[in-house]
Amino acid sequence: MSSPPSQRLPDWHRVWAVLATGLPLAVLTVGCLNSQRVPPDTAKRPSRQLPARPTIAPARATGNKTPSSWKPLKTVRRWNSIVLHHTATEAGSVASIHANHLQRTTGGKPWLGIGYHFVVGNGKGMPDGYIEPTFRWRNQLQGAHAGQKDHNQHGIGIALIGNFEKRPPTAAQLASLRRLIVHLRSVYAIPATGLVGHSDIKATACPGKLFPLANLKRDFAKGGITP
Ligand SMILES: [Zn+2]
Repeated sequence: MSSPPSQRLPDWHRVWAVLATGLPLAVLTVGCLNSQRVPPDTAKRPSRQLPARPTIAPARATGNKTPSSWKPLKTVRRWNSIVLHHTATEAGSVASIHANHLQRTTGGKPWLGIGYHFVVGNGKGMPDGYIEPTFRWRNQLQGAHAGQKDHNQHGIGIALIGNFEKRPPTAAQLASLRRLIVHLRSVYAIPATGLVGHSDIKATACPGKLFPLANLKRDFAKGGITP
């Protein structure tokens, strides 16, 4: 025996009622799952995307040949100092600093990118002791690192990756830094008093209390820094 149509109607009403409430819920649920699969703010934090490999051949503190990447591409600017920095980060690279500095502004004007002229890696983000010149050096542009006009205009900004308030730079970093300083001094005629730490020209802890700034400055003033 079949049921009269009047008895089936309530069943269809229940089916439609379930579909009507269930479908939007299902769509919402799938939407949430989908949105969770997408990293929420990848685009906003490119600095976390460290490049797996450097883009320029390594320039470690071995060998006597000056890497070709250290040669400026444009007319040489007048340089009269070298300003030393740490990044105050455990890890980093030219690419990660560049991404970070692109988000900065001074007086409402956005930065062109990484403010330093050279970066020395510590093995976390860049190979340990690896020296990489930035676009500011290659194009002989003023820096954005000193917080002080003359040293931004005519000071070569070198940043070592690391937080030297917590631990000293690696031996490879220091060897590379010495090699770079010797090169810059001889080619660009930096005066004997021209090697400074960031803290010498601005109220900052940079390049950190565990960075051997006094030793380097003393050796530089005596002309005794050797690679
Ligand atoms: Zn600094």
